[in-house]
Amino acid sequence: MKLINYLEKAKKQGSAIGQFNFSTMDQLRAIADVSLRTKAPVIAGMSMGEADFFGIEEAALIVSYYQNKKRIPIFLNLDHGRDMMVLKRAINAGYDMVHFDGSKLPIKENIAITKKVVSSAHKKGVLVEGELGYIPGSSSYHKKNISIPDFEDIAIEDALSFAKKTGVDLLTIPVGSVHGVYSKSPKLKLKFLEEVSKKLSQSLVLHGGSGILPKEIKGAIKNGIRKINVNTELRVAWKNSLKRSISGNDYAPYLLLKDSKKAVAKKIEEKIKLFNL
Ligand code: 13P
Repeated sequence: MKLINYLEKAKKQGSAIGQFNFSTMDQLRAIADVSLRTKAPVIAGMSMGEADFFGIEEAALIVSYYQNKKRIPIFLNLDHGRDMMVLKRAINAGYDMVHFDGSKLPIKENIAITKKVVSSAHKKGVLVEGELGYIPGSSSYHKKNISIPDFEDIAIEDALSFAKKTGVDLLTIPVGSVHGVYSKSPKLKLKFLEEVSKKLSQSLVLHGGSGILPKEIKGAIKNGIRKINVNTELRVAWKNSLKRSISGNDYAPYLLLKDSKKAVAKKIEEKIKLFNL
């Protein structure tokens, strides 16, 4: 089954597919292992920084090995692609989807470039996620004195017209979440989400999936979110576990990284359950 079919299935059954970001092989293996074990579809996501570190084409080769040889329902996304060259490389390498993030651009320019990305991606059967309205923050664990940054409010009509004009398959709009974990967890705009999703055929995406209370996540899925991006909580699980291993006497990377891989897999499994898959 293709990613688009899994998204349609999620809509029918009122669930959401998790996108889990990675930048190392042990993290990617954790994502694939959980998907194999639970049979839940997963999206492995890489931001431009993560992709640059891992290798854009290398990631596509490994994920296609999981898909074709191991029959794992894992899909690959270039997350927050802002550079046309990188987006083209991902499309040509066989990514299942790319996210063009034009949210910092004036709306007309965002629409024009998103349309171009859609046109070249669709020729290769690659899905496109578009973004309207900037979602702030970075995928990090923020100190107590840092408050949740403000997000942009957008009008429902603008979201609908953006989706129609660009032809995107998935859409990200600000609904109260921000990237990263803060000492206070954000409240989502569920009423707004409900109104948009009722009028939109595309799948809605929730960015900043870390640090949001389960009750809010359940509300978001109930009101139309079909893909949830999670990064910070995986990074925190990975780093905390690695810190513990490093303080011991092991030197072999495969021993040092063993527990971090387990910690990441545990977090992913917890999220998949919450996403109702
Ligand atoms: P978090 O780091 O808050 O989980 O957000 C991840 C994300 O939205 C990636 O696109």
